[in-house]
Amino acid sequence: MSKKQLPCTEAQLAAIANTHPTPFHLYDEKAILANARELKAAFAWNPGFREYFAVKATPNPFLIKLLHHEGFGVDCSSGVELSLAERCGITGEEIMFTSNDTPAEEFRQAARLGAIINLDDLSHIAYLEQASGLPELISFRYNPGPLKEGNSIIGHPEEAKYGLTRAQLFEAYKTCRDKGLRRFGIHTMVASNELNPQYFIDTAELLFELVADLSKKLDIRFEFVNIGGGIGIPYKPEQQPVDLQTVSNGIRDHYEHIITAAGLDPINLFMENGRMITGPYGWLVSRVLHIKDTYKIFVGLDACMANLMRPALYGAYHHITVVGKEHLPHEVLCDVTGSLCENNDKFAIDRPLPPVKPGDLVVIHDAGAHGHAMGFNYNGKPRSAELLLRSNGSLQLIRRAETEADLFATLDFDDLKRFKV
Ligand SMILES: *Cc1c(COP(=O)(O)O)cnc(C)c1O
Repeated sequence: MSKKQLPCTEAQLAAIANTHPTPFHLYDEKAILANARELKAAFAWNPGFREYFAVKATPNPFLIKLLHHEGFGVDCSSGVELSLAERCGITGEEIMFTSNDTPAEEFRQAARLGAIINLDDLSHIAYLEQASGLPELISFRYNPGPLKEGNSIIGHPEEAKYGLTRAQLFEAYKTCRDKGLRRFGIHTMVASNELNPQYFIDTAELLFELVADLSKKLDIRFEFVNIGGGIGIPYKPEQQPVDLQTVSNGIRDHYEHIITAAGLDPINLFMENGRMITGPYGWLVSRVLHIKDTYKIFVGLDACMANLMRPALYGAYHHITVVGKEHLPHEVLCDVTGSLCENNDKFAIDRPLPPVKPGDLVVIHDAGAHGHAMGFNYNGKPRSAELLLRSNGSLQLIRRAETEADLFATLDFDDLKRFKV
C-alpha cells in the first residue's frame, strides 16, 4: 500500500491556495528530479541509455528544461511539440520525432532540427524523401500485432494504427540501406500505464531478437533500440510502482544474451516515458463549491474534466484527498463532479470521503502527466495555471491560467459588428 503524499504540508498548501486561485496544477521539482535520477541510475549499465521525455504528457517548457538538464531528450509527435523542444534549446538527436499520419511540413521541421525521425509506415520512406530528403539516421516503429498483448489504454496491437509489420520492417530497412543510409534505430510502443515490469523486459527481448535478425539478414548496424514509454504509475493506493531495477536487470540479461552474443554491442537503449516521469509529482488542487444531496451526494468542485480528463475518458481512478480531513473516517459515498454540462464530468463515482463542506480544499493525485495536457475549452472553460514547487521551497508560476481573452483570441468581434444577418 503506497501512501498518497502531498508535495508540502497542509498549511503550505492552504497558503498557496489562498494566493493562487483554484483550480491549479502543482508540480514538485525535487520529486521529479529524484525520480529522473533513479531512472538514469537504473540503466547506467548501458552507456548510451537515454530517456526521451514524451512531451505530450506534460508539455510545459519549464519542466522540459529541468528534465533536459538531467540529460533527457524529448519525444515529439507534432510540429508544435517540435517547436516547444526548440524553444527549450533542444535540437538534433536529443529529439525523437515519433509521429503518425504526419504532414510533410512536420517532417521538414523535424529534419531541419536534425531530430531522429521514427517512421510509422513503409510508404513514409518515399513521402519523407519527397518532403525533406532522407536523413542519415532513420528509425521505424514496429507493431508486433498478435505477437504481443496490449492493454486497455493502447488496445490490441493488431487493432492499433501504429507501426509496421515484421515483414514490412525487413523491406523498410532494406530500402533505406539500398538508398545509402547507414545509421539505423528501431522503436516500438505497445502499452500504456503498464505496471508489470515483465512487460518491458519482454518488449526489449522482442526488439533485441528482431534487431539481431535484421542486422544479420540485411547486413546493417543498429545504433539504438527504443522500447517506448508506457511505464505505469500506481494511481490506486494499493498498487505498487514498477521496480526500475527489476526492469533494468531483465533487459540487461537479454541484451547480453542476444545483442552482445551476436557481436552487435554497443546499442543504445532508449525509452520515451511520459507518465512515470511526472505523473505522480503533479496534483490538481481544487475547492469544493457546492454539495448536493439528491439521489446521490454530489461534491461539486471548481475544477472539471477540462482540467483532468482521465476519469471521464477511461474511467481512470485518481486518488482524492480532502485536505485536513484525511484522518477522519471516510464513510460518505460521493460523486465528485465538475461543472460541465456533461454527466460524465466526474472525478470519482461512489468514492468514500470524509464529511465535506463547501470551501474545503480537494487534491486530486497523480495529475502530473496526461492531466493539464489533455485540457480543453468545452463549455467555455479556461485551462488552469501550472505552478512549480521549486527544490528550494519557492513557488514558480510556470503557466498562467487562461482568460476569457485567450478563449476569444481566435474570434474577430469587429467583423461580427459588420456581419449582416
Ligand atoms: C504517449 C506516448 C508515449 C508516452 O507514454 P506514457 O504512457 O506517458 O509513458 C511515448 N511514446 C509514444 C510514441 C507515445 O505515443
